[in-house]
Amino acid sequence: MKRIGVLTSGGDAPGMNSAIRAVVRKAIYHGLEVFGIYQGYNGLINGMIKKLELGSVGDIIHRGGTILRSARCAEFKTQEGQKQGIEQLKAFGIEGLVVIGGDGSYRGAKALTDLGFPCIGIPGTIDNDIPGTEFTIGFDTALNTVIDAVDKIRDTASSHERTFIIEVMGRGAGDLALWAGLAGGAETIIIPEDSYSMDDIKRRLLKGHERGKKHSIIIVAEGVMSGNEFAQKLKEATNMETRVSVLGHIQRGGSPTAADRVLASRLGSRAIELLLENRGGLAVGIEKNKIVEHDFSEIFRENHQVDLNMYKLSKELSI
Ligand code: ATP
Repeated sequence: MKRIGVLTSGGDAPGMNSAIRAVVRKAIYHGLEVFGIYQGYNGLINGMIKKLELGSVGDIIHRGGTILRSARCAEFKTQEGQKQGIEQLKAFGIEGLVVIGGDGSYRGAKALTDLGFPCIGIPGTIDNDIPGTEFTIGFDTALNTVIDAVDKIRDTASSHERTFIIEVMGRGAGDLALWAGLAGGAETIIIPEDSYSMDDIKRRLLKGHERGKKHSIIIVAEGVMSGNEFAQKLKEATNMETRVSVLGHIQRGGSPTAADRVLASRLGSRAIELLLENRGGLAVGIEKNKIVEHDFSEIFRENHQVDLNMYKLSKELSI
């Protein structure tokens, strides 16, 4: 293999730039030429492809977003779109591709591999919802952004003796809500992976109030319901007035944490090693602090699991 490509796809995540940098530098270190594909699969189909040099990825390790930009592309879900993509890659003499994104992006990468074009997936999403890795690039940064907001909201909640409901991202996975809730000392965490009991929440809030607690923080993952919807339900059940804070897209931005930069560097490096071994159809990940790889098909068979022991712990610590 002499030439490889790299693209970012799906929702952006802090640390994607650190991963691009690692892919480009490691590839050049091993004598490969690297091409950046702009705007995900959309740019692949349309030939938005440019050669990247060592300097192209200078000064980006600490920057949020993705210099290659990202996009969603319905056309790429068709075999025609995928074949067009392969034609473009071949026109540039590219023989292997690194795809940084979420599970939808992995499906695109698997489709290309099945058509004979080797691809490696790197997990980049703040949701931490990809099987085959304990952490995705961007999760730690988003978590720290949420914690920063929770700490600030806690200051005002406690000054005004208020209950705050904080809505965080996570359509299908409760990791961000759970980790933020545990690290932020939330009284209640609502995640898609488990049901909640309004009676239990009411009992906890009253118990806390009786022992003189000045504030309560409730974290709701957006996949369960919106913060406003939950506030309404809580009001119906307890007559309690709350304030709602929807954190929204700030969770996707910002400079990646050291943990995300290191993870991105390790995963990016492994992706290149696999392509150099002429291997494709694999997604890299981290398990027990070791860099691992799994077949895409293995990843699609599994469902992401939130750590329910941690969920139990959060309840034990917030009595
Ligand atoms: P995130 O979950 O963080 O938003 P993602 O990678 O899962 O990231 P998607 O929008 O699901 O985001 O997928 C990104 C792109 O991957 C899609 O716009 C499409 O081009 C491609 N893709 C998704 N599913 C498939 C599929 N089944 N086959 C081929 N390509 C796909």
